[in-house]
Amino acid sequence: MTTESGTTQVGEQPARAQERDGFDEISILWISEGMSCDGDTVSMTASGQPAIEDVVLGLVPGLPKVNLYNKVLSPSLGGEDFLAPFRAAARGDLTPFILVIEGSIPNQNIIEGDGYWTSFGNDLETGEPLTLNWWIDQLAPRAWAVVAAGTCATYGGIHAMAGNPTGSMGLADYLGWDFRSAGALPVVNVPGCPIQPENFMETLTWVLYHAAGSAPPPPLDEMLRPQWLFGKTVHEGCDRGSYYEQASFARDYNSPKCLVKTGCWGPVVNCNVPKRGWMAGIGGCPNVGGICIGCTMPGFPDAFMPFMDEPTGGSLSSVLIKPYGAFIRRMRGITSMALNKEPRWRHNESALTSGYDPHWRP
Ligand code: SF4
Ligand code: SF4
Repeated sequence: MTTESGTTQVGEQPARAQERDGFDEISILWISEGMSCDGDTVSMTASGQPAIEDVVLGLVPGLPKVNLYNKVLSPSLGGEDFLAPFRAAARGDLTPFILVIEGSIPNQNIIEGDGYWTSFGNDLETGEPLTLNWWIDQLAPRAWAVVAAGTCATYGGIHAMAGNPTGSMGLADYLGWDFRSAGALPVVNVPGCPIQPENFMETLTWVLYHAAGSAPPPPLDEMLRPQWLFGKTVHEGCDRGSYYEQASFARDYNSPKCLVKTGCWGPVVNCNVPKRGWMAGIGGCPNVGGICIGCTMPGFPDAFMPFMDEPTGGSLSSVLIKPYGAFIRRMRGITSMALNKEPRWRHNESALTSGYDPHWRP
């Protein structure tokens, strides 16, 4: 219900989440035992809008109470104390929960019976390691939502590059791209190597508002990425785009100009980092001098290597834009010289020459 001014009348809203078909409380079970470096967990802690502390302390209005279980951030004693909620969820004794997977999923089938690529706790009866694959098999069908954090978990990433021995893949490759969680959501992919801190926290917040019953499901594209974060290219948000348009290309890595000739893949990569910055608007990639290596993309890294060579398409487009860019640069230089002069009537002489007409004087 909204008033004429457009503000929400809180008193007329159902007061509790349950009355809106949402949850008052939810757990986040975060497993970073994929083929992973924990970089996404570390990156997430840099978010300010919102901060993970704000989410777990209940400082974001309208979210359910959040119980976060992440090994890097856990205040538990570790071991079985830390594993308890994961074991409870696997038994079906803990609901609702959001499952977050960090790291790529190895192919256990290629070594079945011959060891473990990666594991998380031990089987209490046999003492044998419980594989990541076992945990996903137990938890994903029970999870209200399943979130893949980082390019390794979303699409396989660096661990799934050509020549890897583990047969690694992304979570949707493992579960199936038509997988639906208990909350009827597909896998929610937040790529990035690592995730941009606020990209992840914004997505998690949207999922939590959806869990609270106060937001629709997050809009995802065909690669299951949040549309509002990955719907534009790096190039479309890069503040070196004006150099590109004028065909001013860097020849080395110390230049402020466009980096396409030194290896930037920005024009064909879906990512918002140069537009958003890394932490609090500071940092990024091509905007601050680092070529975009396409770390958010399903084809990363193989499709972008060797990183420091000029992309094939980049050489073609930079050749095509050369005559236009050179002409425009020259014209803008001429106009800029004219605009760098003050008008002639700004002087300290005895006659007023600004064109003022005394006819209008009262
Ligand atoms: S540095 Fe990269 S992203 Fe930026 S304008 Fe050049 S090609 Fe585009
Ligand atoms: S700009 Fe390119 S390298 Fe930087 S985070 Fe985005 S995709 Fe990765």
